[in-house]
Amino acid sequence: MTPVTTAVLSALAEEQRGLLERLQRPQRVNRAGREFWLGELHGTPVVLALSRIGKVAAATTTTTLIEAFGAQRLVFTGVAGGIAPGVQVGDVVVAQAFVQHDMDASPLFPRYQIPLYGRERFACDAVMSEALLAATRAGLSHLGLPATVHHGLIASGDRFVSAAEEARQLRAALSEAGHAPLAVEMEGAAVAQVCHDYAIPYAAVRTISDRADDTAHVDFPKFVTEVASRYALAIIDEFVRRMTK
Ligand code: SAH
Repeated sequence: MTPVTTAVLSALAEEQRGLLERLQRPQRVNRAGREFWLGELHGTPVVLALSRIGKVAAATTTTTLIEAFGAQRLVFTGVAGGIAPGVQVGDVVVAQAFVQHDMDASPLFPRYQIPLYGRERFACDAVMSEALLAATRAGLSHLGLPATVHHGLIASGDRFVSAAEEARQLRAALSEAGHAPLAVEMEGAAVAQVCHDYAIPYAAVRTISDRADDTAHVDFPKFVTEVASRYALAIIDEFVRRMTK
């Protein structure tokens, strides 16, 4: 039986670094103006890639992973801004589903609905998400970083949300439409939509780097340089081990 190729997507190079160092039999392939790294983690075939930033860039990377590299499941690791009360810097959110906070084709379609899909949300794969939740808890406690792990909706859009008032409004508008998100970032919903199109299972984990508020521009880079890579490696290492058992 041919082993399933697992794609591991990160948004930022800082998050990917640890995984790249761990990659066995690494082989670099350039495609679509991006670098893809083929290899193995714990004997499992993987392809590592950077989504780049924003929905379109993430959609291109995801499509390439599926079409050119034969990825059969996708897992995303990245950072996000916490916007629900109680979702703090250093917490981790495993996505249950994604919504695009900047999708608005009203009045032709209801606010947040993706035109022609008849839906506002794309759900993550339940089995993979359970494995990712377990891997997150185990991976972080091995590291001595027992973090609060949340599971729920994440909102994506082409904006770095960095003002408390904006974060409040964004969350209030989404909540009113029945889509109260835990966190905000810039890629996840695009990856979810492409995976839906190809019927590829997808799971995503985001570590909270900032609160999408007036200090987000300070908290975000500090978190990314200091901790994001260690979190991503600990979680994905454990996840791949669980998926191959
Ligand atoms: N590479 C640049 C910009 C990163 S943009 C830099 O290093 O400065 C922020 C990235 O982190 C995106 O990939 C996004 O998904 C995530 N992110 C973290 N906090 C966010 C926030 N408050 N709002 C939107 N995206 C956020």
